[in-house]
Amino acid sequence: MKLLATTLPSPLQRLTDSVTKTAEVELYIKRDDLIHPLVSGNKWRKLKYALQEANERDVKTILTFGGAFSNHLFALSAAGKLLGFRTIGVVRGEELEDKERSSTLAFCEAQGMELVFVTRQEYKQRAERPFLDELCQRFDSPMIIAEGGTGPLALQGVAELTGEVREQLGRRPDYYALASGTGGTAAGILSAGASVLSFPVLKGGGFLEKDILDLAGELSPDVSLSLFTDFHFGGYGRWNTELLEFIDWFHREHHIQLEQIYTGKMMYGLYQLLERGYFKPGSSIVTIHTGGLQGLLSSRR
Ligand SMILES: *Cc1c(COP(=O)(O)O)cnc(C)c1O
Repeated sequence: MKLLATTLPSPLQRLTDSVTKTAEVELYIKRDDLIHPLVSGNKWRKLKYALQEANERDVKTILTFGGAFSNHLFALSAAGKLLGFRTIGVVRGEELEDKERSSTLAFCEAQGMELVFVTRQEYKQRAERPFLDELCQRFDSPMIIAEGGTGPLALQGVAELTGEVREQLGRRPDYYALASGTGGTAAGILSAGASVLSFPVLKGGGFLEKDILDLAGELSPDVSLSLFTDFHFGGYGRWNTELLEFIDWFHREHHIQLEQIYTGKMMYGLYQLLERGYFKPGSSIVTIHTGGLQGLLSSRR
């Protein structure tokens, strides 16, 4: 199979600053943002086995779903171009068809992805058979990947991250901390037998608990999932100056760039927990830099 040129294992870096010292924890960041310049972060991990299967089955076309700012559409369009698959992106919001493209969708089209705009009502049927059958007919039986790339094959790809960390650290960390959208990444880490602190980026993200546990399947008894639903900053795609200032502070302190949609919210939330003394001294926490830097506000690059 033609492969993407990836940096693996992605680096694991220690984060030390006044907050981690006061909290007396060992904090790390897993730099999945460095895996690939375009197919980065958890999107590469989630797509890895789907792309491999597409190749083995000699699939010509891959179809998937996302919103106007979807990092998953971004990653799949780039992978399609690099690996020679035709890609179709079913986009939420019929009204967007005639509007100026978001930078994400403009990128997808430039990679050759065909965009199909559907109403929000239709988009809700994205996992239902009749709608999928219709899409299959229309696009010559493509391989269909779920929204966010989240599916059984994605879990396997994400789970591999924990194997890398175990080698790099020489042991298992107490927790993984990550930002959640669909919950697929959280489920993958849990299914690998590690405890997860999940920071939903959507408002009212409590519903994700069931989604994550359903996806992850049976858990080993010493593994836990904790959701922190108070760090959404108003909902998906929303933020405020406090969050942007935190991202700037983190960048000055650690020379690592976060963005305001996913990783900034997770790290902000985690630092709140550190300051509140949530963790026992000596705890080890691996945060995952899930990538998404193309979503960084252009004014802040
Ligand atoms: C998609 C994405 C997430 C969310 O991943 P899920 O598996 O859908 O929960 C987190 N961070 C970044 C940067 C992403 O692009």
